[in-house]
Amino acid sequence: MSTAVAARFDVARVRAEFPVLARAVRNGKPLVYLDNAATAQKPRSVIEATRSFYAEDYASVHRGVHFLSERATVAYEAARARAARFLGAASPSEIVFVRGTTEAINLVAASYLRPRLQPGDEVLLTTMEHHSNIVPWQLACEEKGAKVRVLPIDRAGVLQLDQLPGLLSDRTRMVGVAHISNSLGTINPVREIVEAAHARGIPVTVDGAQAAPHLSVDVRELGCDFYACSGHKMFGPTGIGLLYGRAELLDAMPPYQGGGSMIANVTFEKTRYAEAPARFEAGTPDIAGAIGLGAAIDYLGSLPWDAVEAHEADLLAYATARLREIPGVAIVGEAPAGQKACVISFTMEGVHPHDLGTVVDQEGIAVRTGHHCTQPVMDFFGIPATTRASFAFYNTREDADALARAVRKARELFG
Ligand code: PMP
Repeated sequence: MSTAVAARFDVARVRAEFPVLARAVRNGKPLVYLDNAATAQKPRSVIEATRSFYAEDYASVHRGVHFLSERATVAYEAARARAARFLGAASPSEIVFVRGTTEAINLVAASYLRPRLQPGDEVLLTTMEHHSNIVPWQLACEEKGAKVRVLPIDRAGVLQLDQLPGLLSDRTRMVGVAHISNSLGTINPVREIVEAAHARGIPVTVDGAQAAPHLSVDVRELGCDFYACSGHKMFGPTGIGLLYGRAELLDAMPPYQGGGSMIANVTFEKTRYAEAPARFEAGTPDIAGAIGLGAAIDYLGSLPWDAVEAHEADLLAYATARLREIPGVAIVGEAPAGQKACVISFTMEGVHPHDLGTVVDQEGIAVRTGHHCTQPVMDFFGIPATTRASFAFYNTREDADALARAVRKARELFG
């Protein structure tokens, strides 16, 4: 990390853009928000884009010829174009608006995989997947008599890539992998995995829920076939997310849901479907959500990313060091620097994570305790839960100090 680059990042100015960060919470304590992996806070520009759409420009998209409908349609499609640029897609038509990462993966599992899946086929996932990158594939596999195979992790929470070739077979129909693990923080070598899978003609779906807020993503550089992310983790609204799909794959996929807006022509005998991405957007979409997400993408684009990355690397190193000083703390997920995002899961000997979370909350600090929708990770480490502190670029070393103080307090109370 270059300290000079991190120093160029004006965190106070950034924080001023996020109104909620200025509020007090429990016991009048100032909010220390370290639950960014669950969902991120919103800058003024996102709040304002959503407000002004409802206050001044609100109408439905695509169907109306009236003034407001035209404006709403232009704004909605402009958000799609922004999302395409943000992810490095070749064209806006490769971007489907969905509810979030969960819906994106369900869409691919239902619409791409299920029709292609035969008994005995396989889907390869990894131990560190979020449940939303496990269960949708499992549903398809159960229905078709196919099976899920798993690329394991090691004790540091890093994928055992040497096992990848042996797990890819002639029966593998999909590889699903997280770009960044939400419970371990590990950044996975997606490009390498894609190369290995593509060498055998196997498509790859990347769960980008945690990567989109931390890395600059380029789907064409990664080479992946599908990429999923959630607006609410990218400092945008809830209820909206993105599915990137390579054009030739989306074009060949049947609809996910039926309804208005996804058709070219309907009769009772036969319906012809619209082209992608409209084919996958049945019903009135989350127009305000898409516009808000477009504003979030603009906001992210306005940040100096080399400085953001240096600042986050500094936070990770600093917070890890402060937590490690506390007796009884064990960090879960110890990928080397450069291969770990600003997500720190830890346990404390003799203190249940929920008790720890409660004490930390009394100090105004928001962390998450539990299995983080990654039960196979907890099983692998033989623990029921962890406490997870997940940082964003608006967090500071003072936030890490506050967390360390609160964790020490919990140890005194329960340890
Ligand atoms: N994958 C990962 C890695 C996640 O962290 C999350 C959210 N915790 C999801 C998928 C699901 O995202 P959403 O709930 O926004 O659909």
